[in-house]
Amino acid sequence: MLWSHPVRGEFAPAAGLFFRQQGGLLLDDKIDRGSDARTDSGDPGGVFRCRFCRAKITTAAQMIEVNGSHRHVFTNPLGKVFEIGCFSQATGCLNHGPATTECTWFTGCTWRFSLCASCFSHLGWQYHADLTGYFFGLILANLLRR
Ligand SMILES: [Zn+2]
Repeated sequence: MLWSHPVRGEFAPAAGLFFRQQGGLLLDDKIDRGSDARTDSGDPGGVFRCRFCRAKITTAAQMIEVNGSHRHVFTNPLGKVFEIGCFSQATGCLNHGPATTECTWFTGCTWRFSLCASCFSHLGWQYHADLTGYFFGLILANLLRR
């Protein structure tokens, strides 16, 4: 299964991790440019659902920046490219496996696998660092924004 592969990033920022909670930053044009929906009015476009079973995973209100960006692109050791978005919460996710720092994509953070709690598809990873607390890096291709 996908999530049984070790996952490693080749992205190693020299500076320490920094983290900004969502707020005015989300209205910044740098965030989420090219998205298929806008977040400025109520629910439409505000909910991210599992692409495979349509379960609600998280919302636009949970979007955050990590290391200066909501979106990050990483390549794993098998050459598979993941475009992920960072979220402070993803209540539709089930977190799986022991936390590890091995090959982490975010310096100083441990990670676990995040699966859809409804269909158990691999949706991304949950990260943790003492400085930042928990956040989620979710594979944008596996989410539908509705
Ligand atoms: Zn699902």
